[in-house]
Amino acid sequence: MQRTGKTVLILGGGLAGLTAAKRLTDRGFSVRLIEKRSLYGGKVSSWKDEEGDWIESGTHCFFGAYDELYDLMREIGAYDSVLWKEHRLTYTLSGGGRFTFNTWNLPSPLHLVPAIIKNGYFTFGEMLAFSKSLIPLALKKDRYPPTQEHLTFSEWAKRHRFGKRLLEKMFRPMALALKFIPPERISAKIILDVTEVFYRIPKASCMGFLKGAPEEHLIAPLKQYSETRGAECMNGTEAEELLYEGGEIRGVRLSNGKVLEADYYLCALPVHNLNRVLPETMKRERAFFGDLQQFEGVPVISVQIWYDRQITSENNVLFSPDGIIPVYADLANTTPEYRTLRGEPHEGKSRFEFCVAPADGLLGRTKDEIIGMVDGDIRSCFPETSKGARILKSTLVKIPQSVYAPLPDMERFRPTQKTPVPNLFLAGGFTEQRYYDSMGGAVMSANLASEEIVKAAGG
Ligand SMILES: Cc1cc2nc3c(=O)[nH]c(=O)nc-3n(C[C@H](O)[C@H](O)[C@H](O)COP(=O)(O)OP(=O)(O)OC[C@H]3O[C@@H](n4cnc5c(N)ncnc54)[C@H](O)[C@@H]3O)c2cc1C
Repeated sequence: MQRTGKTVLILGGGLAGLTAAKRLTDRGFSVRLIEKRSLYGGKVSSWKDEEGDWIESGTHCFFGAYDELYDLMREIGAYDSVLWKEHRLTYTLSGGGRFTFNTWNLPSPLHLVPAIIKNGYFTFGEMLAFSKSLIPLALKKDRYPPTQEHLTFSEWAKRHRFGKRLLEKMFRPMALALKFIPPERISAKIILDVTEVFYRIPKASCMGFLKGAPEEHLIAPLKQYSETRGAECMNGTEAEELLYEGGEIRGVRLSNGKVLEADYYLCALPVHNLNRVLPETMKRERAFFGDLQQFEGVPVISVQIWYDRQITSENNVLFSPDGIIPVYADLANTTPEYRTLRGEPHEGKSRFEFCVAPADGLLGRTKDEIIGMVDGDIRSCFPETSKGARILKSTLVKIPQSVYAPLPDMERFRPTQKTPVPNLFLAGGFTEQRYYDSMGGAVMSANLASEEIVKAAGG
């Protein structure tokens, strides 16, 4: 590989920063990456607790549509770690009810026929009203969602008169699972974009899980790939401020007072952290940076519970509209390497991981209170199999600011990866790309940012 002789400093060792490190190392740049925590991976980070059990920032489902993520995983030899599940989405209801959206292995839109005619819950009339509401989407395809960006999804649903049950039972958990905010807050564009992708690309709604911890199957291999090719990754290193002078970035001051310099700077930080390192003068002088203050991070809580028996044999993601667990999975079924507890086998017994949302009102609650609520929800969804079940262990992770909140009319504030400052670039879920704040979006943003840096370097 030909070296460019140019240096890049990447701020942030999440999926976006690590992907950019790989891409730029491959293109001959000298790359240095700084990460403020001791762990890499950001929102996909995972670590072992003092009892040897893996804890995750949150359950991570791999959507079939994340082609750029899978290209990356193939390049680093990690793709075989994705275990694809049966192509269906199951919803669990309090009282023990269920409904499932199955698909057929047929071209779009025929693959959705079983989801519409035999989900076992919504009436034909409800599904007809729903199908009608999607006619503009079917006709205009991806040109339609941007025209609805000014509405929340609830407002959009009301205008299209599809039933309350569809909104409450199907779309509420979907909105909470995607961005941890309810239909009354989320922009209609997000749900319509996802629906459009599910409609147009049959494999898009198929879900995969890693066979073990993201640290072992994604983050460490990605970091090692770049390090073995010369990149330098520094953890426990926090950027405090970008030094801006003469229309360019001259360096990054760290929280320990040191200054790091490079030819190009790539910020792959969550947007609330980016706002902290951007100098006030830049925010004042350029709306491009000032606008970033419009974004807010969404709180979310992740809970794991190990039970003394198997509560479900479902080897897939599960949704629940009732209670505080919109999306969850029994990792003992989905993730073979997670069939353990305190270093002992935990075969044939449940180990759930739950996304708890909306979390705004729960952050101040104690661990016991939250675990009690989650346990109550799971017992209500599985009244038979959970009878007499005992909790063997539980863990909880609170993230006060996770993904950015995609509220109505926010799209115009999403920045491009290229900025008005010629040697400064951005990556991360909030930057402009198709898959929002997700693993697919983080990788896509890093690919775009890396291409911009290559261009800036005359490549
Ligand atoms: C609970 C949960 C569940 C999720 N589930 C899914 C899912 O199922 N599917 C999916 O596709 N996506 C999911 N996501 C979203 C996905 O994890 C994120 O969109 C993606 O990981 C974002 O990557 P990133 O690199 O852009 O940001 P981050 O992961 O936030 O990385 C940014 C990094 O910057 C570091 N940093 C911050 N400030 C500084 C500083 N001053 N100096 C140096 N470093 C700094 C941070 O520590 C962090 O490591 C989920 C997210 C959460 C929270």
